[in-house]
Amino acid sequence: MIDFQSISPLQRGWLLELGLERAFLARLPQPQVAPQPVAAAEPAAAPAPVVDPQQGVTTSPVSRLVSASEAASDATSARDKALALLRKPGSRPVVAAVEEPLVQKPAVLIQPEKTQDMASLLEQVQACQECGLHTGRSQVVFGTDQVLEPDWMIIGEAPGTSDDRSGLPFDGKAGLLLQAMLKSAIPEASVYKTHLVKCRPVGSRSPTPDELAACRAFLDAQIRLVQPRRLLAVGHLAAVALSGREDDLETLRGQTLAYTDSLGRSLPLVVTYHPASLLLRPQHKANAWRDLSLLRQLQGQS
Ligand code: SF4
Repeated sequence: MIDFQSISPLQRGWLLELGLERAFLARLPQPQVAPQPVAAAEPAAAPAPVVDPQQGVTTSPVSRLVSASEAASDATSARDKALALLRKPGSRPVVAAVEEPLVQKPAVLIQPEKTQDMASLLEQVQACQECGLHTGRSQVVFGTDQVLEPDWMIIGEAPGTSDDRSGLPFDGKAGLLLQAMLKSAIPEASVYKTHLVKCRPVGSRSPTPDELAACRAFLDAQIRLVQPRRLLAVGHLAAVALSGREDDLETLRGQTLAYTDSLGRSLPLVVTYHPASLLLRPQHKANAWRDLSLLRQLQGQS
């Protein structure tokens, strides 16, 4: 029989080591152990603060971790949205609209009579809405590249479809024929080409008297600034407008007429068929050749 009361704490430890039942041990008297002073547990060290270099603020590692996680989540979400947008058929990247400051352009003063340079005159023609022809133009057809004091200024009726597209007078087939005529008659001459009106009449019709009158000041200013030595009117409308005579084309052809400007100065004027008319009526080419002979004759006088 074991005297449980006499078992020392050391013996109890041995008994436990030898595998005795806990119930048996439970019968042993519990030793009265004086409580030992225990050093107060140090609080868990707070994680070192971390300075976020982006924000310049101090955060705890936890909050930084959360923030990083949220940022990663946000970035993934944004990327997914972008990819979805790119994969969507027909989708286009959205470009933020750039608001341009409203710049009020000064109104162009239409004063061809007082204009002193071609650039200013061209600006006025481009802004012009004096007649209904401006509604049908793609662009104004002002004139060929400026030549200083050209030997001839060739003046037609109105821009055609090709002229309206290119912005150049006498473009297209009729222009090619005119070019060939001039080259054969006066190959060495310098020329400047334009029309009575600067905007194309839709449907290739002739300009009306009102449209001719509305645009006349531009033509007169253009002749004054270009300073040609002579004029060649192609077609009946141009012949009448420049000569001031109401005769038919056959009457006006074959002679040297005169164009008189607003200051009373006059220039030699020759009249012939419009090249578009010659394309339709080739029987007039012999007469046209006679007109070209007159050009050559006048050119030789200079
Ligand atoms: Fe102005 Fe002459 Fe054009 Fe008429 S045809 S809108 S007057 S530029």
